[in-house]
Amino acid sequence: MITIAIANQKGGVGKTTTAINIATAMAATGWKTLLIDLDPQGNASTGLGVAAADRENTSYDLLLDQATLAECAQPTDIPGLDIVPATQDLSGAEVELVSVVDRTARLRNALSAQERGSFAGYEVCFIDCPPSLGLLTLNALCAADTLLVPLQCEFFALEGLSQLLQTVERVQQGFNTDLGIVGVVLTMFDRRNRLTDQVADDVRDCLGKLVFDSVIPRNVRLSEAPSHGMPALVYDHNCSGSRAYIGLARELIGRLPEKRKAA
Ligand code: ADP
Ligand code: MG
Repeated sequence: MITIAIANQKGGVGKTTTAINIATAMAATGWKTLLIDLDPQGNASTGLGVAAADRENTSYDLLLDQATLAECAQPTDIPGLDIVPATQDLSGAEVELVSVVDRTARLRNALSAQERGSFAGYEVCFIDCPPSLGLLTLNALCAADTLLVPLQCEFFALEGLSQLLQTVERVQQGFNTDLGIVGVVLTMFDRRNRLTDQVADDVRDCLGKLVFDSVIPRNVRLSEAPSHGMPALVYDHNCSGSRAYIGLARELIGRLPEKRKAA
């Protein structure tokens, strides 16, 4: 199983939208996919149609070692896509974990091959991170093989990114030496806006090949879909946003290691 954290400490840059739609696209391509909602706001859970009342075992239980992955993962309406949902409880985990041994390795341990046992055989796991660089995101970075960074084309985008990259370096020097960055994806791109275009050029100059060719346009269908409890890819598979995410998934698969690491 390859684990991909979707992180950026800024809120509203498209992490959750990317997590939902790329996970759906991967599942549709035949990858046995798991999405872990690691944001107390639970937007990924809601966006995939998991009602609050149906979130029995959550990412909180997983982090606090109160339930196993097998107990926390539940199927979604998308064939081949399971989710570990999140509830508000998760906001308490940040505080509760402070006094716990190995507090940054909780998720990593919960996802370890040993813990998973013969369960499920996931091939890819996405982690939807909260908008901060706190303990929850650190747990995601320590559990992940690699990082996917959604970046909104706005004026301070690069500044925010350098802070994230510093955190990644710290994690690489300490807890997770193997952590990679699979790519940066430009989100909410508006070709009529000259600033967006300029920022996109700057980001490509600065980061080169790290930036995916696929660009996610600003598209109202992407923002409507969650209120219907379904991925945009299901809500309107032919809208510009859905097509962009299908392209991104194709590119992402091309960047993953050859061998599909089944559990
Ligand atoms: P994050 O998880 O980083 O906070 P979200 O994915 O929740 O960001 O996106 C923030 C808001 O913007 C949501 O209301 C979402 O529906 C909307 N949104 C995200 N991506 C797009 C897009 N490409 N076009 C239009 N709206 C978008
Ligand atoms: Mg989010």
